[in-house]
Amino acid sequence: MIPVTKPFLPPIEEYHNFLKGIWSREWITNMGPLASKLEMDLKEYLCLNHVLFVTNGTIALQMAIKALDINGEIITTPFSFVATTSSIVWEGCKPVFVDIDPETLNIDPNKIIASITKDTKAILATHVYGNPCDVLAIEEIAKQYNLKVIYDGAHSFGVKINGRSIFEYGDISICSLHATKLYHSTEGGLVFTKDPNLLKKLSLIRNFGITGFDSFGELGINGKNSEFHAAMGLVNLKYIDQIIARRLEIINRYSEKLENFKAVNPKWHKDSENNGAYLPYIISSENLLLKIKKALDANEIFTRRYFYPSLSSSLPYLGSVEMTISDDLSKRMLCLPLYFDLTNEEVDWICRLILREQNN
Ligand SMILES: *Cc1c(COP(=O)(O)O)cnc(C)c1O
Repeated sequence: MIPVTKPFLPPIEEYHNFLKGIWSREWITNMGPLASKLEMDLKEYLCLNHVLFVTNGTIALQMAIKALDINGEIITTPFSFVATTSSIVWEGCKPVFVDIDPETLNIDPNKIIASITKDTKAILATHVYGNPCDVLAIEEIAKQYNLKVIYDGAHSFGVKINGRSIFEYGDISICSLHATKLYHSTEGGLVFTKDPNLLKKLSLIRNFGITGFDSFGELGINGKNSEFHAAMGLVNLKYIDQIIARRLEIINRYSEKLENFKAVNPKWHKDSENNGAYLPYIISSENLLLKIKKALDANEIFTRRYFYPSLSSSLPYLGSVEMTISDDLSKRMLCLPLYFDLTNEEVDWICRLILREQNN
């Protein structure tokens, strides 16, 4: 069986060593030493001054919306994981979908202005498959209309744009460290902001708003993460460069073998490089996609239709709106298996099956 993804698991002894430390300190959660060390090491790895390690990517999004005091409409993308939209609704705001760019699958900045109303307070955009949004165009619109910007960078661990971390963009950026993501801590999330006051507020929000033994400074939530998750993050960080390098090698092999595949990859941002988080293909038709998926399924090779269906037409708590490009592309996107220990032979086999199915 070949799954679409598999979490990277480090040598168990290395994780075990961290567990011994946890046992000897008897400190297992609430911003312990491993959680602090993970934040320090991530700052260094990502070349950033500020990061908060939180429960998961979804809580990170909710904390971001809360910390920016957003009430009203938030312009967002219909082509993402459900948590992007559900966090907006969860925070009592109204998501307003703006269609995507057909080549990058990211929100199309040219379509944002037409959707701005007097109630628009923010833009929440996803760097889909890790590929940076047009951050400069979005920044300009945000400035002009006085909007906050939040980036859902759940897929963008390690991505840079013009040599700077993608997480420096927006008022707040977040990342997910869930087991299915490129870099993980089992469950986990990161929040980034360059604004020191906002960072302070986010760190209060993370811990119930507690400012002292008997004082509260903010409306907060439990956004903390544990020493066990931090330990997994710390061990995996040692391997992340190796993980990314191997995944990029696998992607190259797929590209060579699939030269004649009637499909293309999304166009990556010109000032940035792929982090190897996903291997998405835009297939020429949904029929071909379904045919290929069925053939792979029959061989116990599992692909995923990320992201199908479009969020603009599938959430029971929201009405359905037509988004021509997202509706079309969400039907034609297929992510192929990609994980650290996928072998070249397996890649070749998957590619042979795809081409055989396409050509008969
Ligand atoms: C995974 C994901 C999230 C949620 O992250 P969790 O850590 O699983 O809560 C949010 N947005 C996108 C785009 C994701 O892929």
